[in-house]
Amino acid sequence: MATLSVKLLEELVTCNICLNQYDEGIRKPKFLQCSHTICLECFQAIRNRYTIACPFCRTSTSNGHIYEIEWILPTNQYALDILRLMRTALKVEEDNQFIAALAMRYCREMEEALDEESVLDQEQEQEQVTAKTDSCDTSNSETFDQELKYWNL
Ligand SMILES: [Zn+2]
Ligand SMILES: [Zn+2]
Repeated sequence: MATLSVKLLEELVTCNICLNQYDEGIRKPKFLQCSHTICLECFQAIRNRYTIACPFCRTSTSNGHIYEIEWILPTNQYALDILRLMRTALKVEEDNQFIAALAMRYCREMEEALDEESVLDQEQEQEQVTAKTDSCDTSNSETFDQELKYWNL
């Protein structure tokens, strides 16, 4: 169902002559008088001086045979809106993937940090043990010194 909708949307934003997606520039979607839409580039390629025969239904669209004025067909804004909508949806999907990736990295970093912390705990414990050992040694040596002093006396 979802795949079908995307396919339908893609058809609505694709020129059926050159099979390129419409855009805001040279591939602007243009309505013919029969309501079929082709891109501006294809329009320029297949138009005659005053008329164009629709490539889908052969209906003739004309500019009223006025050669002097530039022939401007109405733009199919719906196609452009759908295009923008699709790009936004795609961006949201990319953003979600980015957030998911960030969350994954955060979790991994947290795990690593926790591992480091436990290593650090061990190191601290070892330091404390070493400190204790040192103090023991010191007190022992002091006691030993005192004992020596005692015996020397
Ligand atoms: Zn085209
Ligand atoms: Zn047509």
